[in-house]
Amino acid sequence: MKITENEHCVGCTACANSCPEHCITMESDREGFYYPQIDEKKCCNCNYCKKICPVLNKKKTNKENHAYAIINKDNKIRMESTSGGFFSVVAMYILKKQGIVVGAEYDKQFNVNHIVVEDIKNLYKLRGAKYTQSNLGTIFQIIKENLVNGRNVLFSGTSCQVAGLKNFLGKKYENLLCIDLVCHGVPSPKIWEEYIKYRAEQDNKGIYPELINLRSKKTGWSNYSYSVQFVYNNGKEYLKSSGEDPFMRAFISNLSIRSSCAECKFRGIDRDSDFTLGDFWGIWNQDKSMDDNKGTSLVYVHTKKAMQVLNDIKEEVSMKEMDIDKSWIENPSVMKSVELHCNKNLFYEEIDKKEKEFKVIVDEILGEIKNENNNYTKSKISCLVHRFLKRRR
Ligand SMILES: Cc1cc2nc3c(=O)[nH]c(=O)nc-3n(C[C@H](O)[C@H](O)[C@H](O)COP(=O)(O)OP(=O)(O)OC[C@H]3O[C@@H](n4cnc5c(N)ncnc54)[C@H](O)[C@@H]3O)c2cc1C
Ligand code: SF4
Ligand code: SF4
Ligand code: SF4
Repeated sequence: MKITENEHCVGCTACANSCPEHCITMESDREGFYYPQIDEKKCCNCNYCKKICPVLNKKKTNKENHAYAIINKDNKIRMESTSGGFFSVVAMYILKKQGIVVGAEYDKQFNVNHIVVEDIKNLYKLRGAKYTQSNLGTIFQIIKENLVNGRNVLFSGTSCQVAGLKNFLGKKYENLLCIDLVCHGVPSPKIWEEYIKYRAEQDNKGIYPELINLRSKKTGWSNYSYSVQFVYNNGKEYLKSSGEDPFMRAFISNLSIRSSCAECKFRGIDRDSDFTLGDFWGIWNQDKSMDDNKGTSLVYVHTKKAMQVLNDIKEEVSMKEMDIDKSWIENPSVMKSVELHCNKNLFYEEIDKKEKEFKVIVDEILGEIKNENNNYTKSKISCLVHRFLKRRR
C-alpha cells in the first residue's frame, strides 16, 4: 500500500507518528529524503494514515491576514538570524511564559533535527536557516504530551511540517502557536552531508568546522548580498557569496530539492500557521526606512492569537504594516513553486559515482564548464527539450 506517491509526499511524519499498529517507518531513498515504508504484515488496512496525510487532506483556511516588515531591536540576535530576527522575539516570549520552543538545530555532525528548547540560553541553536530537510523523529508526540499537560508550545518549521503537525494533533489547542516559513524548497540531507565533507576536505584536511552559517550577514543582507560561512577551530574561514557557493547554487537551481516542493500545496498567503516568516526581499524598494542591510523579516499574521502576541512584543521590534498584495512581489516563494532541474537525476548519479569533486559536478550540470564527453552541451539541449515537452502537455 502507498499512502501517497513519493513525488507528492512531503515527509512530514504525521502518518508514521500516528499509525495505530506502529507499522510505518521513515526510510531514506536514493536522494536521501525520508518516505514512509509500511510493514504490510502488521498493517490492518484501517486507512488512518490516509485520513491524516496533509497532502491528501489539505484544509481550506479563510483567515484575515496582515503583512508586516519587522526588525528585532536586539542587534546581536538579529545579526545571528536569517532575516529580521523575528523568530527569536516570539520564541523568547513563549520561553518567558515557561513554555517550550520546538525548531531545527544542527547536531555535532551538522545533521538537522527538530529539538525542544526550554531555556533561553539554548535558543541560539534554533536561530538561522538550515538549508536541508530537518529530521522530525518523534517530535510530534513530544509536542502533544506537552500540549495535553497544559504547557505553551511554539512550533517552528516549514509549512508542510506545520500542516502535518496540525493533522497529527487532530484538534485545536489554545496553548499551541505555530510559525511556518516562506519556503523555496528543502535540499536533500544526503547532498548536504556530501557538501560538508567536500568543504572540510578543501578547507581543513577533512576536519569539520565548528560553525556553519548559510546566511552570514558579514557581507550584508540587502540585494541578496549574504554569504555562506564555514568557520574552523584553527581560525580558518570559508566565506563565499551564495552565487559562488556550489551547495547554494545547486539549491537555488533546484537540483537538490525534494520532488514535492515543485508542486507545494502549502504556499500562498493563507496558511495553517499563526505566523509566516520570510526575508522581506525588496523592502529596499518598498520602504527604505525599514532596510539597514542587516535583515528585515517579512511577517504574515494569520490569527487573532498571533495578533495578540505581536501586540505584547511590540516594544521589542520596529515594525510597519505593509500592503499585503505588494509584500511578496520580490519573493515569489510565498506564492509559486519552482520547477525541478531537468538534470536532477544526473546530479545524483554523479554524486553517487564519487568520481568528481562536488563543485565540478555542479559546474558541469549547471553548464558552467564542459566535461570530457561534452555533456555540458548535451545537458543544455536535454533541458530545452524537457521544457518544450512540458509546455505542450
Ligand atoms: C529550507 C528553507 C527555505 C527557505 N526559503 C525561503 C524563501 O525562499 N524566501 C524567504 O523569504 N524565506 C525563506 N526561508 C525562511 C528564511 O530563511 C528565515 O528562516 C525566516 O525568515 C526566519 O528568519 P528569522 O530572522 O525570523 O529567524 P531565524 O533565527 O533565522 O529563524 C530560523 C527558524 O527557522 C527554523 N528552521 C531553520 N532551518 C529549518 C529547516 N531546515 N526546517 C525547518 N525549520 C527550519 C528554525 O527552527 C527557526 O525557527 C527559508 C527557510 C528554510 C529553512
Ligand atoms: S492503514 Fe492503518 S495500520 Fe496500515 S499503515 Fe495505515 S495507519 Fe497503519
Ligand atoms: S503523512 Fe506526511 S510523511 Fe506520511 S505520506 Fe503523507 S506527506 Fe508523506
Ligand atoms: S516547498 Fe512546500 S513541500 Fe517543500 S518543504 Fe517547503 S513547505 Fe514543504
